[in-house]
Amino acid sequence: WTEAGTSAAADSEDRDMHKLTRATLALNGLGRCFIAEKHLSGIKIISRGLVCAEHGNDPGKNEVYDVIISGGGMVGSAMACSLGMDPNLEGKKILLLEAGNKKVMDKVPDTYSTRVSSISPGSATLLSSIGAWEQITKMRCKPYQKMQVWDACSDALITFDKENLQDEMAYIVENDIVVAALTQQLDGLSDNVQVKYRSKVVKYAWPMPHQAAESIPWVQITLASGETLQTKLLIGADGPNSMVRRELGIPTVKWGYDQSAVVAVLHLSEPTENNVAWQRFLPTGPIAMLPLSDTESSLVWSASHRFAEELLEMDEESFVDAINSAFWSNENQSELIETAGSLFRSALSAIMPSAGSPRQLPPSVAGIGPKSRVMFPLGMGHASEYIRHRVALIGDAAHRVHPLAGQGANLGFGDVACLTQLLSQAAFNGKDLGAIQHLLEYETERQRHNLPMMAAIDLMKRLYSTNVAPVVLLRTFGLQATNMLPSLKEQIMAFASK
Ligand SMILES: Cc1cc2nc3c(=O)[nH]c(=O)nc-3n(C[C@H](O)[C@H](O)[C@H](O)COP(=O)(O)OP(=O)(O)OC[C@H]3O[C@@H](n4cnc5c(N)ncnc54)[C@H](O)[C@@H]3O)c2cc1C
Repeated sequence: WTEAGTSAAADSEDRDMHKLTRATLALNGLGRCFIAEKHLSGIKIISRGLVCAEHGNDPGKNEVYDVIISGGGMVGSAMACSLGMDPNLEGKKILLLEAGNKKVMDKVPDTYSTRVSSISPGSATLLSSIGAWEQITKMRCKPYQKMQVWDACSDALITFDKENLQDEMAYIVENDIVVAALTQQLDGLSDNVQVKYRSKVVKYAWPMPHQAAESIPWVQITLASGETLQTKLLIGADGPNSMVRRELGIPTVKWGYDQSAVVAVLHLSEPTENNVAWQRFLPTGPIAMLPLSDTESSLVWSASHRFAEELLEMDEESFVDAINSAFWSNENQSELIETAGSLFRSALSAIMPSAGSPRQLPPSVAGIGPKSRVMFPLGMGHASEYIRHRVALIGDAAHRVHPLAGQGANLGFGDVACLTQLLSQAAFNGKDLGAIQHLLEYETERQRHNLPMMAAIDLMKRLYSTNVAPVVLLRTFGLQATNMLPSLKEQIMAFASK
């Protein structure tokens, strides 16, 4: 199903999630990556923009910015910092617009927030290059060295760890802390980047790709206050229901998973080193426990909307029992699968005696943080085009994934690093920042990375959503074999670390 891009379609966006074959996903994205660029560019340059061009009036009236970023979540704020710190972009007029309030954090709260993200080393490098990582680590951030993923239907497992256990596999950071650190950085960059909080965009008007007598030259933006602004390049970082994407009519492949994620702060039964991220695939959806401190972890439990609602309504004791049982119970296992799995494991151990990793047991949960239970509907979405004339989409505005691999924000930070580098180069070469040629490079580079990751996440989600015996057997053998192949595991880790 593709999004028509009209306002009416936009309003029903979340209600009208339709299933769509993965072939369409491939056509919408992968096809684009492998068609020869020189042929593609011409077609795309001509086709993009014409459909959404609007004839405007009196363009000289408002101030013209070089870059406006719409949306100051984790990804938009990182984009603003990254552009503001780039020496080649010095002197450019850059503005960040955020509908919500400014998120300042004078003091780190005593309690953990329920919204956390697993930040990959690649994202940490980006955040470090814009000065935010130091703030994050000063505030609160928990590195972990291992990840154990296992199947509730067979107990087949895979362990990812760094050969040297001193190296971090990733970091669990509260989203509020990431935004607060970026906000602090932006305060220090006020000469280069202007930020307007409580500034919701209510309308966009688009220029034509080629100069036409009646066309407005730049993207025109109207805020809820009535103020209008113009920009040579608009970066849409306005999240999964992106207004920029919708108003441009960019075709978007998407589907709901008929699942919600229940998140909560967990108190562990006893202090542990807590340097492992745990995830168990239940037939009803994955449950993950991510380390926050020696005594606390963060829960992300994906389940049907109905079960998620039940989990929210349970009293604390029943909720804690449900979590412990989800991690420990063997109720989904069958003798047949168990026997086949253990035979296959023994055969593999005979061929590769030193391979594989021993099973570790997750900590048990004793309680939850006060009022920390919240749920979020889950879905998958991919804009088949990340750019148009004078516009680029980044973060969830371009792609939304299931949280089972902890990759959503990381993909967005990857977009930030890539787009900054291309805009910096364009500025160095004296080029127009909104020109489609270098934006096309951004789209191609990011879709080459994002699409395989999204396809892998969607496949995992589907593969583990069933307890049909042949599928369970297949994934049990697959998981056990992968666990025995360190070089394959390293490649998976390297891909997920970017
Ligand atoms: C349960 C769960 C667990 C997750 N775990 C992980 C994880 O472990 N690791 C990971 O990498 N990712 C994870 N994610 C995904 C991650 O949270 C998202 O990918 C990320 O927050 C997207 O950031 P964003 O800035 O692109 O969008 P958003 O966070 O949605 O920000 C968009 C911003 O745009 C603003 N905005 C919207 N419309 C307008 C407008 N018209 N005018 C002005 N401003 C506007 C909004 O106010 C908002 O601040 C998880 C997601 C969920 C649901």
